[in-house]
Amino acid sequence: MILVYTEQQNGIFKKAAYEAISYAANIAQSTGAQVCAVVLGEASGLETLGNYGAQQVVHVNDARLNKLEAKACAKAICSIANAQQADIIIFSNNNTAKAVAPRVAAQLKAGLVAGAVSLPDLSQGFVVKKSVFSGKAFAFVQIKSAIKVISLTPNAYGVNKTTATATVSNHTIDFASTDFAVKVISENKVQGIVPLGEAELVVSGGRGLKGPENWGILEELAGSIGATLACSRPVADSHWRPHHEHVGQTGGTIRPNLYIAVGISGAIQHLAGVNSSKTIVVINKDAEAPFFKAADYGVLGDAFEIVPKLTAAFKKMKASQQG
Ligand SMILES: Cc1cc2nc3c(=O)[nH]c(=O)nc-3n(C[C@H](O)[C@H](O)[C@H](O)COP(=O)(O)OP(=O)(O)OC[C@H]3O[C@@H](n4cnc5c(N)ncnc54)[C@H](O)[C@@H]3O)c2cc1C
Repeated sequence: MILVYTEQQNGIFKKAAYEAISYAANIAQSTGAQVCAVVLGEASGLETLGNYGAQQVVHVNDARLNKLEAKACAKAICSIANAQQADIIIFSNNNTAKAVAPRVAAQLKAGLVAGAVSLPDLSQGFVVKKSVFSGKAFAFVQIKSAIKVISLTPNAYGVNKTTATATVSNHTIDFASTDFAVKVISENKVQGIVPLGEAELVVSGGRGLKGPENWGILEELAGSIGATLACSRPVADSHWRPHHEHVGQTGGTIRPNLYIAVGISGAIQHLAGVNSSKTIVVINKDAEAPFFKAADYGVLGDAFEIVPKLTAAFKKMKASQQG
């Protein structure tokens, strides 16, 4: 049995959850296993997870799990893994998985590969490819334990959708009060945009933008193509932009289809978070900026002239597609 932890909030699943199920379904095709999606916390309409390749859904319908507390989530997943005799457990490599997957692996004495970027190679045992050294190299890691845990990099594997549905069953866990040691005092949710970790299109700004008052041109550019905003570390450190937008070695690691970097020099610590992007466009007025070496497309010039022109071109393209 392949278990897939599918994260949701208020019954809404992230795209990364569908990617993880699709990934599991592909492994199942090679091994003849079944795919079981695990859903924690209150949610409904779970049979639709079958659309992505799960034959079964096991639901722990307990409101205390809505806050995704790592210790309790790990206990629930281990309990289901034991009940289902799971030998592979898949997570999407997001913040929740970073807290939960190692606990699950330790409790089940399983080998863990965090940040897988492709399907495991089953011809040589069970070998998983992952990015290492801040995305500069790949490692091929063999998992030899009976139970294997993989957390899949978001946007590294596509979503395969069918019309199949899954059977849903409930699972009850005997939680202790100590399983919920963390008290959430307040939540500050970013609304209305695709979260950075899942965004396919990202527009990112650096110190070349000179100050927070100039972010309007990037917001317009992002708005014209439905992109999510990101920034370099000094921009977040200077409070020009919120910290959740900071990407790089000490910020978020992203893998969008398109990363447009505006006024960012391309320091190695910045590249560490973005150089797995499928297409990188760099706009910089310094021909020697290191980012040009990592770029698929480079535009040499002043961001304040180029960005509005790019936005206008995107808007025109969109209008012609609609008309
Ligand atoms: C341990 C450590 C961890 C770090 N982690 C991170 C991290 O996670 N993420 C991160 O981003 N950085 C990180 N840094 C910082 C990193 O080394 C760089 O200092 C930082 O990325 C530079 O940010 P920047 O490119 O926005 O600014 P700058 O280096 O100042 O570059 C600004 C760029 O804008 C260009 N420019 C200026 N005006 C214009 C204009 N009008 N039009 C077009 N281009 C213009 C300039 O030519 C220049 O290339 C880390 C550093 C350390 C030591």
